Amino acid sequence: MLYTSTRGNAPARSLRELLRRGTAEDGGLYVPETWPELTPGELSALGGRPYDQIASDVLALFGGAEWQQCDFTAGIRHALAGFERNDGPPLTCLDDQLWSMELFHGPTLAFKDYALAPLAEAIDRELALTGNRATVLCATSGDTGAATANAFAGRARANAVILFPEGRVSDVQRKQMTCLGAANVQAISVRGDFDDCQSIVKSLYQSEAAEKYSYTAVNSINLARVLLQTAYYICASVKIRNACGQPVNFAVPSGNFGNVFAGYIAKQMGAPIGKLIVTSNENDVLPRLFETGRMSKAETIPTLSPSMDIQVSSNFERMLWILKGNDGAATRDMQEQLARHSYYELSQAEHSRLTETFGAMKCGKGDALDTMRRIHETFGKIICPHSATGYFAANQLKATLDGPVVVAETTHPAKFPTAVEEALGTLPDTPARLEELFARDEEFATIDATVEAVQGVIDEKFGTPCY
Ligand SMILES: *Cc1c(COP(=O)(O)O)cnc(C)c1O
Repeated sequence: MLYTSTRGNAPARSLRELLRRGTAEDGGLYVPETWPELTPGELSALGGRPYDQIASDVLALFGGAEWQQCDFTAGIRHALAGFERNDGPPLTCLDDQLWSMELFHGPTLAFKDYALAPLAEAIDRELALTGNRATVLCATSGDTGAATANAFAGRARANAVILFPEGRVSDVQRKQMTCLGAANVQAISVRGDFDDCQSIVKSLYQSEAAEKYSYTAVNSINLARVLLQTAYYICASVKIRNACGQPVNFAVPSGNFGNVFAGYIAKQMGAPIGKLIVTSNENDVLPRLFETGRMSKAETIPTLSPSMDIQVSSNFERMLWILKGNDGAATRDMQEQLARHSYYELSQAEHSRLTETFGAMKCGKGDALDTMRRIHETFGKIICPHSATGYFAANQLKATLDGPVVVAETTHPAKFPTAVEEALGTLPDTPARLEELFARDEEFATIDATVEAVQGVIDEKFGTPCY
């Protein structure tokens, strides 16, 4: 099974090769030409397995024979079995139309762990098989960086470089990236926003140093990561459909469109999924696109839910390619227009195809705080400000949907104590592993938002002697 670039102008590659490659040489993202489609019986069987096996089986379906021969499965299962809750994300029926899926029971308390912990194992295995080393680059709005730093700390064959926007991540998130004391992890505070961090990382892949350092992407532009997230949509939709007999809708707090795109893949594979609702904070590039058919960039505004403070949703390029009928040249034209003129427009047919599967809703600060209070009063449940956007949309849209809505709770409320305090007047309990973190010293560089400055830090830290 081979993967092609959304911009149609890069060599086709296997999933194994994609482990160490985020973007394609033509600037596009790798996508499967066809989705493995499962019969309803096969899907039910898959969804009923232990969670670590669902995840490794999904990857094996996409990886083909070569993947199985190289035995990536053991590492993936090992990473997920080590989670505090190793039976997959907990699913709770809150009322007959509303379920929660808590995606924050991994080591750094955000959904990113479900993909990054097993991805790090798989990358390590691939590096060992080929006798290589790599430098993992990660632009983060907070949670990806924490999960990446944690997943790669102490690994012998990979270094990790984490770029986060200065002052725009929570204290907990920053400490999760800067207090690991691992010689192979470098955190960098960038004087800019998340989109600056992401664009620097993209430039570094295309730079001269890329070969010397074997730069590797673990942002959600890395297809393996999105595929690993598909597992929880399969697991949850099968279990909940079995419980209530209806297809299941998901409300997914979104930024880069990676998590919700994993849900789309699950649906393409045959999972019993109705609609996928994309939710945002004031940075509503996606809800505007879904409403109007026009993708247009705006300034990124700092909000209550910083992990979603994004205006360039990289993974949407994969969806655009699908809407364009897998036409690389047409996708490239649109992306170039977006880069040059900060907008593009979908045709009416593309727009209606998009909204057949997806809905979207923006949730501003007042609505998010109200929702955090309402969920606490009604269900005794403390939620984070990101998850609040999902609960808000679920409440607004439930009357229009067939079947229950599952809200993807993307992170633990203790990562955002200030927002919780503002909503509820009390602080959330701090899990023991965060308490321990606060006692440690932080280590990070602070620099301007330029490619050269970041490369300078990397040269200083990792320039000798390994490469
Ligand atoms: C990363 C993140 C998101 C956004 O997910 P995407 O895959 O970028 O759409 C939402 N909420 C939290 C807490 C996150 O960490």
